[in-house]
Amino acid sequence: MSSENEGVETICPYCGVGCGLTLQEGEEPGEVSLKPWFDAPVNEGALCIKGGASPQVVNHEDRLKTPLIREDGEFREATWDEALELTVSELERIRDEHDPDAVGFFGSSKVMNEENYLLQKLARRYGTNNVDNCTRMCHASTVYTLRQSLGAGAMTNSMADLESHGDVYWVQGANPAEQHVIAHSNYFRRAVRDGATLIQVDPHANKTSRDADIHLQLEPGTDIPLLNVVLHTILEEGLYDEDFVKERTRGFDHLEATLADFDAAAAADTCGVPLEDIQEAARIYAEAENGAIFTGMGMSQHACGVDNVQNEVNLALITGNVGRPGTGVNPLRGQNNVQGTCDVGAMPNVLPGYQNVDDDEAREAVESVWGFEIPPEPGLTNVEVSNAIGDSVHGLYVMGENPVMSEPDALEVEKRIADLEFLVVQDIFMTDTAEFADVILPATSWAERGGTVTNTDRRVQRMRKVTDVPGNTRHDLDILCDVGTRLFGSGFDFDGPEAVFEELREVCPIYHGMTYDRIGREGIQWPCYEPGDEGDQYLYADSFDTEDGLGVVRGVRHQAPDEVPDDEFPLVLTTARLEEHYNTGTMSTRSPTLRRKTPENFVDVHPADAANRGIEDGEYVVLRSRRGEIVLEANVTEDIKEGVVWTTPHFSDARANTLTNDVLDPLAKIPEYKAAAAEVEPVGEG
Ligand code: SF4
Repeated sequence: MSSENEGVETICPYCGVGCGLTLQEGEEPGEVSLKPWFDAPVNEGALCIKGGASPQVVNHEDRLKTPLIREDGEFREATWDEALELTVSELERIRDEHDPDAVGFFGSSKVMNEENYLLQKLARRYGTNNVDNCTRMCHASTVYTLRQSLGAGAMTNSMADLESHGDVYWVQGANPAEQHVIAHSNYFRRAVRDGATLIQVDPHANKTSRDADIHLQLEPGTDIPLLNVVLHTILEEGLYDEDFVKERTRGFDHLEATLADFDAAAAADTCGVPLEDIQEAARIYAEAENGAIFTGMGMSQHACGVDNVQNEVNLALITGNVGRPGTGVNPLRGQNNVQGTCDVGAMPNVLPGYQNVDDDEAREAVESVWGFEIPPEPGLTNVEVSNAIGDSVHGLYVMGENPVMSEPDALEVEKRIADLEFLVVQDIFMTDTAEFADVILPATSWAERGGTVTNTDRRVQRMRKVTDVPGNTRHDLDILCDVGTRLFGSGFDFDGPEAVFEELREVCPIYHGMTYDRIGREGIQWPCYEPGDEGDQYLYADSFDTEDGLGVVRGVRHQAPDEVPDDEFPLVLTTARLEEHYNTGTMSTRSPTLRRKTPENFVDVHPADAANRGIEDGEYVVLRSRRGEIVLEANVTEDIKEGVVWTTPHFSDARANTLTNDVLDPLAKIPEYKAAAAEVEPVGEG
């Protein structure tokens, strides 16, 4: 770490690329400025517009600066003692009047490993596994499939090895040039410049498409038929890796049987993509020396998200593109600690290190460190908790999350949240969710505290405090320690994040070999089982982490989205993020630079659909689905296919999730954000 007058090296608070940057404190506490960290391990000093603007939210005038308690429908300022006592007494009351499963705990991928670790420990000490985080909304299906079929719910490879060894990049349902900007500019674009081929599969032409050699612009929700055409072509033309299939996989016969009577022409028609274009892409990937798949929320956020990702696994396994540098199935994770939040066990079915909560041996090992019994049955996911409000759930502890904006069918979520007996929100800004809280606990921002975060390629990195805590705020870690100690007396008395990390590594085998000192400036990629392990740049060189060591191939069939267009809602609505904004916009929409670039929400409409409805470019329109409507600006563009409309989830005053469908993937419980029936029309014609 640099000396104090040179600034402090830390990690960007936005996306999962995990770029390093240097922060310097200004004259006044809270004032921070940024300069490049030139030898940062992931980004070598480069930052995107979001990272560059990230200090703007630290000393922002909207920061919550003192605890608030709702009284007679209004918030009043409170002392920490009052706010925490009320929180603890309400949690105790709900447990006494109902049971521990009557409360849900939402962790956050914006929050550090140590804090999410403490939140899930708090939930389990309280007596429930109802603890989850926003990975449920982005990559729950990816994590599920990768765990089942390969072994670990994470990127198989690393950005660095992919850049230097990859020949073909297959990017499906992701737009890294916009959403993982430095991964794209520092790794993918350099590789393409050096001769690698970039194939993108996405319903929306975007910044990544501009660098792509092939863009397969499919209809939303047709990823399975498209990949089945790819797999069918590879099987028909004998392009699969027979030795790898025989020695390293099981289930190939299931894939063959699934595709035995496959009609490739009809499937290509369903996708709205010429058959020969898909076949050409299939041959390029299958014949590459090293082919790497990148997967994003365009794949995961479907009711068939698990099967979507399984088909990517099928493609990688039958062509032998796993277990070497430059290959693999690589989810591009959303937030700067979404990987770590899952790693440390803030999920209802797993303990730290992805140890199943219903595995007696794993549970007992963690219990021996924690000193209390952990409930043996998996809990509810965050959407299930939300759906159970008023039924079995009566209280909610939300740390750094914003479910009123992030969950699908937002108007219904809002009604349910308003029905809670008790809601406590711990955050740095007033959010759409905090508006409904009984208690608000003001936390410190990313620049005011230290800890670790884990990026998209499993690299655990340290974040460091640069400036003092504003007003009457407290670190998330201190708040959780205080709540835990008030509730249980012991087990939550930690002297800072390093002490928490030391306990975490005792119960999390994949982090066991790490210490703060060893993480240092470079970070360490898990798995790091023992002190001295270097961590792994890529996984599965010799075997998979499945019971028999084999990778699982499983054929899957097309499942149309839950809602398909009809006379009333003849369009398909799909959503995705922008370069200059970030998820529910809590931070990014408060940044003057980012807000100036894109000040409000908009909807992309194809020129033919616009003409049919009398919509002009730049005009305000009503976008509606069965669940509600929002008013926003129309962007008439050929970037989207006819019959499809596209918008973003970032803006509170035109909330895309008012419109989205809350149907879930049955296994991973991720909502289908990417396809809903919709209609758009000029304002005033509804
Ligand atoms: Fe931050 Fe991601 Fe941009 Fe890097 S690419 S600066 S981590 S938002």
